Amino acid sequence: MGTIQDMIWKLENFQRNLQDLGTKTVHIVPDAKGMIDRQCPKNDCQSYFKVNSDDWRNIVKDEEVFCPICRNNSPAKEYMPKAQRKAIVSGIRNLIMDNWHHGTPMSQNIVPIQSMEEFELNIACGNCKTRFSVIGAAFFCPCCGYNSVERTAKEAIEKILLQMQKISSIERSLQSEFTKNQVAVIIKSIVENSLSDCISTLQAYCEARYNHLSSTKAPFNVFQNIERGNKLWIGLKGKGYENWLTKNEYIQLTLFANRRHLLEHKNGLVDTKYLNNTGDRNYKEGDRIIVRESDVSFLGQIINKIINSIENP
Ligand SMILES: [Zn+2]
Ligand SMILES: [Zn+2]
Repeated sequence: MGTIQDMIWKLENFQRNLQDLGTKTVHIVPDAKGMIDRQCPKNDCQSYFKVNSDDWRNIVKDEEVFCPICRNNSPAKEYMPKAQRKAIVSGIRNLIMDNWHHGTPMSQNIVPIQSMEEFELNIACGNCKTRFSVIGAAFFCPCCGYNSVERTAKEAIEKILLQMQKISSIERSLQSEFTKNQVAVIIKSIVENSLSDCISTLQAYCEARYNHLSSTKAPFNVFQNIERGNKLWIGLKGKGYENWLTKNEYIQLTLFANRRHLLEHKNGLVDTKYLNNTGDRNYKEGDRIIVRESDVSFLGQIINKIINSIENP
């Protein structure tokens, strides 16, 4: 134990060290692609994403950052991942304790924070050029909140194509958990939902793109109807599905859109309207339509072709 004077010196010294510590910054080491980790602060989301470290410093605003997955917007500082925040707090606590107990100078650096391994999907915003990456799918740019309908639609179709390609392995992994009957029901619903998702993606993409290019708005859900959608594109661009697709692809697209209508509104049961619209001879009234993964894959490719034709005329 020292004198009171010793204690006062120790306290003064400690206070100086603390002030010095307050001026330090924590170094965050980017991953191999130059990205740093961020985490959405919204409780329901908490998704991880990454932003290029230079873009985070130079382009992204302090006051407002968007979550690429849910579009939450909060100040930039709230996007520090929880695990990193914890690591920094415990690093600082250790420096303070070591200084107080052992006189270790606080001037030594706070341990730098390492970023997670790089993510697969790398995106550059079509609007502000900010580079970011995510796992799975992203909808919004963290810097400007821009939603690229083209990118979102392409990613949705990619996801569907991948699911169809992996359907046998999905089936095999389900077999360890469920009965044969349950597996068949689940697989059927995945394939049928994927057909619906393809048409919904076409509708969402075409509506956004058409409304962007045209001075008049497209009628509600018009692009679910292939013939009417085709007419709108021809009216706007002088070309439509007939030009962008082969004759067979155009026929199949119309057929799948009509089958999707049955799945959504008629529980998949064939009615006279469907038969009149499509001339499909494989079914009669009252039959239930069958969707195969090869149908969905073909439809996905057709939609990709449409998107590419509209984006790169
Ligand atoms: Zn979020
Ligand atoms: Zn942007």
